Amino acid sequence: MSKSTSGSNRIPLIDLDRIYQRKIKGTYQRLRRYGSWGLLCLYFLTPWFMWGERQLVLFDLPQRQFHVFHMTFWPQDFFLLALLLIISAFGLFMVTVYAGRIWCGYTCPQTVWTQLFVWLEMKIEGSRNQRIKLDAAPWGFQKLLRKSSKHLSWGAIALATGITFIGYFTPIRALVPDFFTLDANFQAALWIMIFGVLTYLNAGWMREKVCIYMCPYARFQSVMFDEDTKVVSYDVGRGEPRGKKTPTSGAGDCVDCGVCVQVCPTGIDIRDGLQYECIGCALCIDACDSVMQKLERPKGLIRYSTENELAGKITHFLRPRLIGYAIAMTVMVVSLTVFLALRSPLELSIERGRGQLFTEALNGDIVNSMQVSILNKSENTQTFEFFLEGRPGAQLSAPEQVIIAPGERVTKPVQVSLEPQKVVQARLPFTLRIEAVGGNRATSTIDSTFIGPERW
Ligand code: SF4
Ligand code: SF4
Repeated sequence: MSKSTSGSNRIPLIDLDRIYQRKIKGTYQRLRRYGSWGLLCLYFLTPWFMWGERQLVLFDLPQRQFHVFHMTFWPQDFFLLALLLIISAFGLFMVTVYAGRIWCGYTCPQTVWTQLFVWLEMKIEGSRNQRIKLDAAPWGFQKLLRKSSKHLSWGAIALATGITFIGYFTPIRALVPDFFTLDANFQAALWIMIFGVLTYLNAGWMREKVCIYMCPYARFQSVMFDEDTKVVSYDVGRGEPRGKKTPTSGAGDCVDCGVCVQVCPTGIDIRDGLQYECIGCALCIDACDSVMQKLERPKGLIRYSTENELAGKITHFLRPRLIGYAIAMTVMVVSLTVFLALRSPLELSIERGRGQLFTEALNGDIVNSMQVSILNKSENTQTFEFFLEGRPGAQLSAPEQVIIAPGERVTKPVQVSLEPQKVVQARLPFTLRIEAVGGNRATSTIDSTFIGPERW
């Protein structure tokens, strides 16, 4: 089944043909390889690092605590996660408007893992021609050995990926021995297997099919492109007509060698123009550059370029959409930083009863009763004390100390009373403060209003 091209906007239903990718070296591939190794190291190693007594990054779902470096987040902090996701989305939009599908070609997990699996395949089964021959050959010892080695190595990587992923949710130092001694709890083991099998299928078998048929980002990216977006492009003006160059042929620089197609992980021909299957990996750039180098012609017949540049017009780097994304992102990054900096390890709220706003005590004092709710967002059990501020002469009646476990919310009855002659108006502001005893002396305040009778 043929691929869609700029000439025909037809999208194939599914293409199950195997793509035998040719190995190629070059500047962009070095960049992709080093970037991929860095990202893989980050993924596999992060859960092994410790911060004091606990894992550096641990999303502890049963305890509803999310540890990231020295910070612990609670379900109440989920708006921060939402903010982070919005920042990531805007970052992605901004990069796409500027440089097309850089995310897809260099950093998407599907690309990174596929690259690792393809690298293993090439190491075990050999070059493109050797792989084609091996697949066409009848089953024998050599084929069995190579195929089983490849699938075993893929399986090992997939299993490590699954274990590591669950290791972000369960302490990994205990998970690994438990898993291999069959002591891990059923749910953890099940999710490891599910994640491992999905990795094996996605990166080993489905590869570019995920990008072409399953990824929604591939479908809507084109609406973000404009004539100033840098995308992998073939310079038609320079390359055509393709063919062997002789003094009389009038051929362009493209010798129609097909190497750019053979290296393409999605099996397309970039010379047909921008296609939705193109993940922007730049393998065809490196391929064509190597051909041009051999022919002693200038590199860049295929290159990152813009529609404007190829049409001989000026490319505008600063354009309204890009500036808009940059401003939105900056505002949100600043907001997130401020929220994180001002984040208190405790949360305080006051609730008043729906009935009487105040009562009169036997000694004549005016009394306001309320429920004070405290959420301990720190990682330790804390003891808190109550203090009343900003209302001279007011008496606070509250539990002497409240002990609260990490992540727990405790509600306590509190009363504020004033002698009648000090209730100079019906509404008087005051501040309630709670403070942790010892330790970091975390403190939080809340402003409220003392309510008295209207007659004063
Ligand atoms: S056309 Fe080039 S950049 Fe696009 S996916 Fe194929 S090799 Fe990668
Ligand atoms: S690698 Fe370059 S020269 Fe060869 S077919 Fe592709 S564009 Fe033409």
